[in-house]
Amino acid sequence: MALQIVNLVLNEAKKNQAKKIVEVNLILGKFTFLGKEQLRFSYKILTENTIMEGSTLRIKELEGKVRCKKCGYEGPLKHENDLAFHFIIPTLACPRCENITEIIQGKEFFIKNIRMKS
Ligand SMILES: [Zn+2]
Repeated sequence: MALQIVNLVLNEAKKNQAKKIVEVNLILGKFTFLGKEQLRFSYKILTENTIMEGSTLRIKELEGKVRCKKCGYEGPLKHENDLAFHFIIPTLACPRCENITEIIQGKEFFIKNIRMKS
């Protein structure tokens, strides 16, 4: 995932003939189950010896939200703050009525913007 980001940024930099990447702003939904620290670590390694080396990676996390068609519940899942939740595939049961819900927020993973120097 970090590799995708780095490749995307390098591509953009090329298009804009940038010489240096200053900052990358990333949006990361909680339902992607990507660890922020893991991402930062990979980013640092992957950007070494590129024009991205030393750039700031800012990650904005988006809460996971679901919607229940049956009772109208909209909000986080019950187990979201449970540590174990991050290691299992979440059951998308509604916290109110246990009906299956749909994800309305939290699967996002994209670059919001890039600051570069030409
Ligand atoms: Zn419900």
